[in-house]
Amino acid sequence: MDKIIRIAIDGPSGAGKSTIAKAVASKLGIDYIDTGAMYRAVGYKMDRDGVPFEECEALEKMLAETDIDFVSGDIILDGEIVNTLIRTPEVSMLASKCSALPSVRAKLVDIQRGMGSRKSVIMDGRDIGTNVLKDAEYKIYLTASAEERAQRRFKELQEKGEQQSYEAVLADIKARDHNDMTRELNPLRKADDAIELDSTGMSIEEVVDAVISNLQ
Ligand code: C5P
Repeated sequence: MDKIIRIAIDGPSGAGKSTIAKAVASKLGIDYIDTGAMYRAVGYKMDRDGVPFEECEALEKMLAETDIDFVSGDIILDGEIVNTLIRTPEVSMLASKCSALPSVRAKLVDIQRGMGSRKSVIMDGRDIGTNVLKDAEYKIYLTASAEERAQRRFKELQEKGEQQSYEAVLADIKARDHNDMTRELNPLRKADDAIELDSTGMSIEEVVDAVISNLQ
């Protein structure tokens, strides 16, 4: 692909954004940027280092000393690969909580815009089409019912040997939807010019094909 294209994929937790974005990136030979992993890395670091969640000096100082990057698909926090450390249910909630903090969003959005300015990318998150890459060439809003999203996450956790009930996973998904959709700063919503895709009942291949067929 010669000309630079930016594809924004937004939607609620567990809609399959990262699976779909990764598959589309590999089909098109472009980079995939998982912005949720960046919020997870910040939430993880705040918790690990005991940085309070209020807007304050300690948080500003921590953010100034935080480096987040992707190298060959790995997320690197201050030089350390944190792929698995950030994929726990606790870090999911911490990510959702810290994503409401203006200084956290300002820092991460800045990094994301830099990543999306030099080369073709597919970036997934909550505010990519509405804020980070407002002028993206393609915007997709990927959804699925809360029950289907919880079922998928529950299966994933079971395969990893994690002990969480389906009810707990569903409650977690609904709590994160609520946080993400009602926060003051860049809440999750479909951009006016995004194409909405409801993946309920669709296979991964079907969704990937639907996304690609919209990139004309
Ligand atoms: O996508 P993922 O579930 O890994 O994202 C973790 C959390 O990070 C989300 O629940 C959301 O609160 C936050 N997030 C965000 N903006 C983004 C990506 C993620 O607020 N662009």
